[in-house]
Amino acid sequence: MLEAWLSRGDRRLSAVIYEAWKAGAKFDAWKEYFQYETWLAAFDMVGLNPEFYTHRQRRVDEIFPWEHIDSTLRKKFLFEDYMLSQRGDTRIDCRQRCFACGILPTFADLRRGNPGEIWQCPEVKSKKIPVHALLDYSGLSVN
Ligand code: SF4
Repeated sequence: MLEAWLSRGDRRLSAVIYEAWKAGAKFDAWKEYFQYETWLAAFDMVGLNPEFYTHRQRRVDEIFPWEHIDSTLRKKFLFEDYMLSQRGDTRIDCRQRCFACGILPTFADLRRGNPGEIWQCPEVKSKKIPVHALLDYSGLSVN
């Protein structure tokens, strides 16, 4: 739960961390120091529900706190992976079929400048496609 809060949390979690620290929480990765109740009390103190970060259905068009970090992968691609995982499926190796994961628009110039087989990604022919043109999450949701 603590790892989920810290990895999925938004900036409001800083107050929770501060309150937990003031109450003595530290080295929580060590079993003998882990203070679950302290963290729950810190959530309560700042008026946040910990389950907001861990136990709710999330809409796919929700803007996640970490979305300003550009991994170059399209959100739609990651959502497709999520849906596959819900069915117990995985993708085939993308060297057999490109799924347009999103890295090529970012590295288009690098790809153009380094043609050949080493990439094992398709050649880049068009100019960079705006990310908003690739997103269509209407009617979809994610845990
Ligand atoms: S082949 Fe390249 S661009 Fe296509 S899905 Fe794989 S890594 Fe992404």
